[in-house]
Amino acid sequence: MESKVDVAIIGAGIAGTSIAYALADRGAKTAIFDKRSFGAGNSGKSSGLVRHFYSTELAMKMTKLARETWSNFASKIGEPLAFYRNRMVVLPREEMRDGIEKVAVYMKKNRLKCSFLTRSSLRKALPGSVLDDVSFGFLDAEAGYVSDPLLAVTTLGRVAQRLGAHYHPFTKVTGIDVADGRVRGVITDKGRVEANCVVNAAGSGARELGKVIGIDLPISSERQQIVVVKPTKKMSATYPTVIDYIKNIYVRPEISGSVIIGSGERGVPANPDNFNEGAENGSVELLMRLGAERFQFLKHARILRAYAGLYDVTPDDYPIIGELESVKGFVNACGFSHGFKLGPAVGKVVSELILDRDYQSIDLTPLKFERFERHELIKPFLGKSGGGTG
Ligand SMILES: Cc1cc2nc3c(=O)[nH]c(=O)nc-3n(C[C@H](O)[C@H](O)[C@H](O)COP(=O)(O)OP(=O)(O)OC[C@H]3O[C@@H](n4cnc5c(N)ncnc54)[C@H](O)[C@@H]3O)c2cc1C
Repeated sequence: MESKVDVAIIGAGIAGTSIAYALADRGAKTAIFDKRSFGAGNSGKSSGLVRHFYSTELAMKMTKLARETWSNFASKIGEPLAFYRNRMVVLPREEMRDGIEKVAVYMKKNRLKCSFLTRSSLRKALPGSVLDDVSFGFLDAEAGYVSDPLLAVTTLGRVAQRLGAHYHPFTKVTGIDVADGRVRGVITDKGRVEANCVVNAAGSGARELGKVIGIDLPISSERQQIVVVKPTKKMSATYPTVIDYIKNIYVRPEISGSVIIGSGERGVPANPDNFNEGAENGSVELLMRLGAERFQFLKHARILRAYAGLYDVTPDDYPIIGELESVKGFVNACGFSHGFKLGPAVGKVVSELILDRDYQSIDLTPLKFERFERHELIKPFLGKSGGGTG
């Protein structure tokens, strides 16, 4: 193991690998540590939805920057990394209309294409859907999905390695070396590495690492289940993703023609070190029933796989990003409830914070850990994080 790097990154999920890639691309000497391996945490289970339909301008700016990068990543890094711009259709509950009007104003202000959909335009956009209980829809026209999130994380990690980043899988960070109010390195179960900067991108393990240096990151883990089905009629890879607030599910196509059905309900609190990564029959049956009520082609669908993962949730559903005021050089990039989509944006802005000592692309100061101590939580204008999962 190398004895010294500029930046030690804890966690090889989408956050850690994106940050490693962005730093290595700018010539910083980095090392990534993961107690498992690339994407083995929540990133590898993500549904890969990339949407802008959120209820703060900050989230819209971040998702826009991320989506622009996802769209061009394959050509930039010279590796296959498929992003499909299939658009996203929201099926809201009637009482959400005023809030969604506000979302539309801010999306347009941020040059994000969107529009309201009547029932007849919804029928055209979503062939095979049953819309009796829907009064209107909303289109996030530039939304899309990363077709294989696990491959995306692995690819970013490998490209970072190609640019010089060291990678240590199956290496748990057990301690953070701090002296005179600043980090000096990380202590792992395989030895110590000196570093001027340490990034906590440990997903569901981030809270435990915070405790090591005396802070309590307010991150809890919520378990969510997903079922992937083979419909009676193949769903096109460009069929829009649907976030359905009436049935409380989301549905997105896979490039193979199969379909992911996820829940829009809040997840159930779980212990990140010991939770069931499989899915329960009752939850799978419910998701399949709700999916079949909305789409005719899901009526006699066959289950391909079902699993459970964790959302790392904070009190305002926004991530914790930024350098800790009490320990210089300790940078948090964790608590991403819906954070897969943000990966490339997080990589870019965190690398700016570390190398330029300030944000250049988007000011993420409002996402610092200290916002919880100062009671300055992010206030969305349409429920938490625009509502829904994915
Ligand atoms: C079922 C499901 C579907 C989702 N769908 C979407 C979606 O459609 N769109 C979206 O934007 N988001 C989605 N999300 C959320 C998204 O997947 C997560 O927000 C994101 O992947 C978090 O990435 P991360 O890098 O922070 O964490 P992780 O991917 O969990 O990575 C953290 C890594 O840190 C490692 N680690 C932890 N502790 C230590 C330690 N002490 N030492 C060394 N390594 C350590 C872990 O092994 C892990 O690999 C979904 C989540 C789930 C569960």
